Amino acid sequence: MGPKVAERLGRLGIVTVRDLLEHIPRAYDDWSEATGFAGLALGQEATVRCAVERVKVRPTRRRNLKIVQAIVRDGEGTRVAAVWFNQTWVTRQLGEGTELLVHGRLAGDSFTVERHELAGQTEGLHTVGLVPAYRASEEISSARLRDLVGQARPRLRFLPDPLPARLRADEGLPLRADALAAAHRPHERAEAEVARARLALEELLVLQVRVLGRRRELEDETSAPPLDEEGELIGRYRALLPFTLTHDQESAIAEISADLALSRPMQRLLQGDVGSGKTVVALYALLRAVERGHQGALMAPTETLAEQHFLTVEGICNELGVRCELLTSSLPAAQRRAARDRLASGEADLAVGTHALIQDEVEFRSLAVAVVDEQHRFGVEQRRALGKTTPHVLHMTATPIPRTLAQTVYGDLDVTEIARPPADRRPVVTRWVGHERSAEAYTRLRRHLEEGRQAYVVCPLVSESETVEARAAEQEAERLRAHELRGFRVGCLHGRLKTAERREVMDAFKRGELDVLVATTVIEVGVDVPNATIMIVQEADRFGLAQLHQLRGRVGRGAQQSYCLLVSRPKEELTEDAARRLETLVETADGFELAEVDLDLRGEGQLLGTRQSGLSDLKFARLTRDRELIARARKLAEAVADDEDDVVGPLRLEAERLDEDHRGFA
Ligand code: ADP
Ligand code: MG
Repeated sequence: MGPKVAERLGRLGIVTVRDLLEHIPRAYDDWSEATGFAGLALGQEATVRCAVERVKVRPTRRRNLKIVQAIVRDGEGTRVAAVWFNQTWVTRQLGEGTELLVHGRLAGDSFTVERHELAGQTEGLHTVGLVPAYRASEEISSARLRDLVGQARPRLRFLPDPLPARLRADEGLPLRADALAAAHRPHERAEAEVARARLALEELLVLQVRVLGRRRELEDETSAPPLDEEGELIGRYRALLPFTLTHDQESAIAEISADLALSRPMQRLLQGDVGSGKTVVALYALLRAVERGHQGALMAPTETLAEQHFLTVEGICNELGVRCELLTSSLPAAQRRAARDRLASGEADLAVGTHALIQDEVEFRSLAVAVVDEQHRFGVEQRRALGKTTPHVLHMTATPIPRTLAQTVYGDLDVTEIARPPADRRPVVTRWVGHERSAEAYTRLRRHLEEGRQAYVVCPLVSESETVEARAAEQEAERLRAHELRGFRVGCLHGRLKTAERREVMDAFKRGELDVLVATTVIEVGVDVPNATIMIVQEADRFGLAQLHQLRGRVGRGAQQSYCLLVSRPKEELTEDAARRLETLVETADGFELAEVDLDLRGEGQLLGTRQSGLSDLKFARLTRDRELIARARKLAEAVADDEDDVVGPLRLEAERLDEDHRGFA
């Protein structure tokens, strides 16, 4: 194999022989060998063994078309003219008496060859049986890969098998080499699937062993202050809430409580749909720290969101006599320093800010609980950095994914779900409105405003830059003030406003001094105004499914029926995926269900968090298809984690090899 080929393989992600052998087919063509040409129906696809009698190249009247024709004879003595189009090079292979396998179709009295191979050389590798089709590239064809894999096959036996023999016996799994051999060259399709499942299970198991190992390491190295029981402050907090907690909220709190009581740092993920009431639970965890004389930190991915959280938290804290600091980079230096000093001395109880700020700058007197909002935006590294400061950590995400997946994607976290929103909620009524009827959408929106409710208008997603997007939003707000929303108080919110301005706009909207917020996706998370009951999303087809769902979550936060109107071009002009996104949104309000569809549409590589966990590099497993295998791998990983080294040793070794490969992001 020359250096050129190596390079080309490299671009397919194939560097070592092992990579090549682990590059299993993505599909198979099922071609059985026919006994002869005579038995074939017209147009029937088949593979026939035959010998060449004579060959000639025929030019045709069309300038660019050359035909190679060989009179061939099969084992039964039937002669046909085998025809190759535009492949004059085959004449070099074909002499009188050459034996070969041809694959193609009978067309009249000739046989059109799609693919052939010389008998005795590769023996059916390309033309007979379940012929593997590989993920290939422009530079290196599936046929070439078949040849290369065929040559490398004898080396299968030298590849390591990380599955411990006992586990293989207990689970009834074949040897790795056998599974790979079967995957490349199965006798039946079922055999290929069994082989793939065996390889996928091992892959998932290694991943889980790695994730669990990392978690144990973290636990061994660190400890957090145990917070035993609820105290007086929590009593007052509960009394202050204008509602009773839902069953799901209470059980989330119970799980968190049990974690907090230990000196092993909590590493829990709180999953719940937008508006399901996660913030209330998060604040509970923070206050548990405060009432024992420790501190809490709430970290958000963006400044806007941090500010938004601060506004929510500050109100409650004031009533409880808890001192809360906002920390963002746009705060004047002197103020920031003062806030930091108060956190260092313990004068302040809670910090709300962006994660970067809190992690890099702040010395806490005693940080006991950290809440990380939208954890998927934080890499494993950040999680680890946090771990060193040894608080209990609660991660929150409003992009829920099915539990089995969550355990793999966020395998080093315990998972808690708030599955149901507060009972007084009605699902947001969602409509898909064509451009031509957008006037009606605004009429409807005005009706809400006239009844004293508030509204959002979300501007189209602009990919160029935040600045361009901000300018577009300003212009749109201006336009709406002059036309559709004339006479109403319209504010504009985007990422290019100074903190103070942004805060002012959000405050004014919260206090009801603005009727409408025209905004970019900065309102995607955190904005919580129950009186806002209608949202128009412009050019909704430009947004992703999860993003639209997040945006929609800004309404439907009170007892009133809320509406979300998705304005887009007509269906005929949309891509199939875009249309399906909008349809799905209209049909379902359930975040978990949407996550499934999203997964389906975007593929698992796009799943948030997969990159950190190594899931985007899976060779054999498919997250969408292999739920059962994922659960099984998880159980096995837990079961073997405490086993002697001769059992987990090879798995750990394999995990380390992966870590080596992925240093830099995992
Ligand atoms: P999330 O953070 O999950 O998106 P929030 O915690 O912001 O949701 O809650 C959304 C809204 O629901 C808030 O206005 C909150 O005050 C309210 N809420 C939370 N829990 C309850 C409950 N148990 N009953 C009624 N309303 C609730
Ligand atoms: Mg929230």
